[in-house]
Amino acid sequence: YRAGLVRLKGRDAVSRDGLRAKLLANIELPEDAKVAEENGAEGVGLYRTEFLYMNRKDLPDEEEQFDAYARIVSAVAGPITIRTLDLGADKQVDSGRSHGPTPNNPALGLRAIRLCLKEPELFRTQVRALLRASKYGRINIMLPMISNLQEFRQARAAIDTVRHELIGEGHEIADQIPVGAMIEVPAAALAAPMLARHCDFFSIGTNDLIQYTLAIDRVDDEVNYLYDPLHPAVLQLISRTIESGSRGGIPVAMCGEMAGDPRYTRLLLGLGLTEFSMHPASVLEIKRMIMDADVGALRHAVQGILASTDLQEMRDRIAALDA
Ligand code: PEP
Ligand code: MG
Repeated sequence: YRAGLVRLKGRDAVSRDGLRAKLLANIELPEDAKVAEENGAEGVGLYRTEFLYMNRKDLPDEEEQFDAYARIVSAVAGPITIRTLDLGADKQVDSGRSHGPTPNNPALGLRAIRLCLKEPELFRTQVRALLRASKYGRINIMLPMISNLQEFRQARAAIDTVRHELIGEGHEIADQIPVGAMIEVPAAALAAPMLARHCDFFSIGTNDLIQYTLAIDRVDDEVNYLYDPLHPAVLQLISRTIESGSRGGIPVAMCGEMAGDPRYTRLLLGLGLTEFSMHPASVLEIKRMIMDADVGALRHAVQGILASTDLQEMRDRIAALDA
């Protein structure tokens, strides 16, 4: 089976009825860029930058970050979506946090974009390194944990300020660097029509979106039995996000685990998803599923699933997508 998949490596992910999907990789280390390409990914849909900050006492300075980003941007042929620092909650570090009391609910606390806006120097250093690396390839900047429009606008303004600063210093910066939001907080999914007017792209982070929608701590084993990507509320939020992006004329990707799980591929195609970012090892299997799918028929079937008011009927219809 695996040998058959390898033959798909150079092929485009085109469905039976002609829909072209994009398959991208999630990576954590610059070395992973090679693995992504070897597995047939067309680019990187999520580069988690936290590794640079973790397991150490000090913060990485601009040069260290620039070296890492320049290396990775040069190594990836396709576009690379780099996520700004997503520290806090399940991604704790020794450095980089202000010294306050340990929060009772870290997932609801000062994490990700909230921390970056609270500590502008931390953010500025990373953005300087990112923008300087933009001359080596195509980068997109992705902001994690956006929960309202104000945060997005504030972060984008900070990025613009850094751009002018760097140009003033004589640095060469790419002209076009799309800035997008991760949609991983239910409020952002609900406000997606508004966010779409300001963001250059969306990327749905189902790991956190499911955690926050269902009020279950993603690292608490006592409640993981409630973790359910097929919960009707989760499906509505995903659908709304994809729909809002498409109406707003911006690309919508998904980079949470759900995007790389073949149990959900047909459902996601039916919801209108065209960009999937996942662990590199899953790329070819998902490509196979997409190439076997009739997206038009799936889209029609998923309309019925979304409209369903009976849970068992909804589950049955989802199961029937794979039949
Ligand atoms: C997510 O939340 O779905 C996501 C992709 O980000 P992370 O798992 O790094 O929080
Ligand atoms: Mg997340």
